[in-house]
Amino acid sequence: RELTVDLGARSYPIYIGEGILNDIGTLFEKHGIGKGSPLLVVTDDHVAEHFLEPVVSLLRTAGYTTASHVVASGEKSKSLKVLEDVVTTALQAGLDRKSTVIALGGGVVGDLAGFVAASYMRGVRFVQIPTTILAHDSSVGGKVAVNHPLAKNIIGAFHQPEMVLYDTATLRTLPDRDVRSGLSEMIKHGLIWDAEFTAWCEDNADKLVGLDPEALQYGLYMGCRVKAAVVSQDERENDLRAILNLGHTIGHALEAVAGYNELLHGEAIAIGMVGAAKLSVRMGNPEHVYTVTKRIFKKFGLPTAIPAHMDTDAIMSAMMHDKKFSESKIVYIVPTDIGKVEINKNVSADWVRDIVDQLKQED
Ligand code: NAD
Ligand code: ZN
Repeated sequence: RELTVDLGARSYPIYIGEGILNDIGTLFEKHGIGKGSPLLVVTDDHVAEHFLEPVVSLLRTAGYTTASHVVASGEKSKSLKVLEDVVTTALQAGLDRKSTVIALGGGVVGDLAGFVAASYMRGVRFVQIPTTILAHDSSVGGKVAVNHPLAKNIIGAFHQPEMVLYDTATLRTLPDRDVRSGLSEMIKHGLIWDAEFTAWCEDNADKLVGLDPEALQYGLYMGCRVKAAVVSQDERENDLRAILNLGHTIGHALEAVAGYNELLHGEAIAIGMVGAAKLSVRMGNPEHVYTVTKRIFKKFGLPTAIPAHMDTDAIMSAMMHDKKFSESKIVYIVPTDIGKVEINKNVSADWVRDIVDQLKQED
């Protein structure tokens, strides 16, 4: 499957398929990636174990000079220190302005390598090879960043890739928890945009969790398509792009309070989407917004309740640190129906607090 992210002169294709990495040489040539300058593949140690050698050897066979840099897996590699290490490798390998940086991995590697590509010599070309389900979200849209000890994703840029190569065969080695966590963002893309796709996700939960190739390709294609549609209408997050934050207001606060090991990103936003649905019903929207949302996440084995030991005050203060907050009102993405959301700039912080309390009692 193939789709285009429509961004005028910065438009780029997303290729999705089982085994498409075998065509990497042909696809690079087709998209004008020249052989005169070295390439740099950035990956993490888990991904490297399975896929680095095959990717590098396919590129070399195709006639590309290719260097690689392996970072430790995990969020801590999205740092300025690691950025500097990657740039050291880039310099030693002789990367120049015509070089391409390749992200081989999940969202961590994509964000890090993307920021290297955005900043090295004021910007070189960039290709994404996502190897997690969550990365169907992070690899589309051009947001790249590293973290500061005081704030996540605070040092970054918009830098669109030349292309995204999504080989579903790479997902087979992904741990089950990361599979479900990534599917949470796929469901989010349904919930904000497309009721029919949401129902398809629910009906195909077992196939998706079991990594059935046909189901995965369709689900990732649709997820990327929604993300691409939103991003092409609002590349720089002036307004519409904010709808991608459904479930993220509570979700980010939970991640900050729980630490990044207790809750994976997709797990935290699943709870956040159930919270948003509860809030929606309280605001007068139909009850099924909540019942359907909750039923879907249950079906995927994702959490729908806040762990009882987490402190409501701590969650609320983490939320206030979030940039979307002002005084007693919170900007909130509220689902008005399945497949539809509104950006509500006037949600009472007290109501959100009630919802957080209620989420601790959910099953
Ligand atoms: P990740 O990159 O840390 O990958 C999750 C885990 O799976 C890691 O341990 C990794 O080593 C391992 N892994 C990856 N691919 C594998 C494979 N095929 N087989 C076996 N193991 C594999 O995390 P993620 O969930 O992909 O992404 C999370 C990151 O994405 C966060 O840093 C988040 O901020 C970022 N993000 C960015 C955007 C964006 O628009 N730029 C959007 C959403 C999330
Ligand atoms: Zn997210």
